[in-house]
Amino acid sequence: MDLAAVLLIVSVMLVVAFLLLTISLMRLRGTTGELQAALEDESGARDRAALLLTIASAVNSSLGLEEVLNVALTHAGRIMGAVAGSMYLVRQGKAEMHREASYNLTNRARGSLRRIDEEPLHSVLTAMRPLVVKLDERTAPGLEAGGHPQHALVVPVQRSGQLMGAMELYLTGWRELTEDQADLLNGVASQAAIAIRHAQLYQAQEENALTDELTKLPNRRALAQRFLQEMQRARRHRKAIAFMMIDLDHFKQVNDTYGHLNGDAVLAELAQIISTGARESDVCARYGGEEFAMILHETTEAGARTLADRIRAKVAAATFPGGLKLTISIGVAATDEPALFTSLIDRADQALYAAKQGGRNQVRVSDMKGPGARQHTKPGAPEPV
Ligand code: GH3
Ligand code: MG
Ligand code: MG
Repeated sequence: MDLAAVLLIVSVMLVVAFLLLTISLMRLRGTTGELQAALEDESGARDRAALLLTIASAVNSSLGLEEVLNVALTHAGRIMGAVAGSMYLVRQGKAEMHREASYNLTNRARGSLRRIDEEPLHSVLTAMRPLVVKLDERTAPGLEAGGHPQHALVVPVQRSGQLMGAMELYLTGWRELTEDQADLLNGVASQAAIAIRHAQLYQAQEENALTDELTKLPNRRALAQRFLQEMQRARRHRKAIAFMMIDLDHFKQVNDTYGHLNGDAVLAELAQIISTGARESDVCARYGGEEFAMILHETTEAGARTLADRIRAKVAAATFPGGLKLTISIGVAATDEPALFTSLIDRADQALYAAKQGGRNQVRVSDMKGPGARQHTKPGAPEPV
């Protein structure tokens, strides 16, 4: 073999070796790329799992609803690169939602209410999936950093097909959502829905425990709580409190003659009459049986006596279910002396007893400085004797 032939063979072999090397390198690069993508996917999945875990543990913690919503919002917002966010909740029985939690927004009311049947929300809520929408001047809330966001990523919050609210994550520009992102946001929304449902059940339970079933007035337990609050407030502002104890006269006869059901209807009607006579700041409660009580906010003895006699007269003039004419007796106690606040209930009760002893259908006012109820008003004559 001559030298030229040898050189040719070697060159060919070198070219082949080079080609093989290039192919191997390309393969290796491809595998690295795939590996890189797999790793990124893996870390994305880890991030998503971590986010859902954080929110789920917030839901299962003893945090209040607002804090849970804040955790869900801020974490979802961070992952989506949102500049701010807010959570709206549906008001029961209304076609509107109110902002209940937010981050990086000003406190201004703009955009704090969303009508469910108005665009752009309506389309998102109908589709029941996360969507990016354009916000207009009227609906865009104020950013703490200044200005208003142009777009919002709206995530409906629902449970068993029932809309509970919506999460809005504010974006600086329009963006297409990937399927992964939409899935993640739906996961966040279902956690938020669980937290909202828990809070609603808890609130309903609390309300139940503090409300009298028959009259729908606060019950004795609620009255005790409010009385503590009222005492603290009156002490702080150096104001008077008045307490009123009200009892239906000869109510047992109503039950005995007309039946328990008619008796119940009478109590409900009486509750209505008494509570419509109270101011918004007063507390009117069913104390038990056919006894009612009122805490009169910042009210002196004279004011309480006037109100008591007005209520007594209103009841005497009313016609109750079954065409009944009934009367009430009232015991009143009032003071601006913080040391005597805790004795107000007892004193009103004693005054009520005196009103019963005095012949019923009348108001008695406790003499807080003396041993018992000495002043009283006779029917139609609210003057102390
Ligand atoms: P007085 O003028 O001394 O207050 O006489 P009274 O008959 O109203 O008082 P008494 O304490 O003897 O009777 C209270 C009655 O109230 C007895 C009880 O059956 C009735 N009562 C208590 N709670 C309810 C209720 O929820 N529904 C009905 N229908 N009656 C009730
Ligand atoms: Mg009675
Ligand atoms: Mg009684």
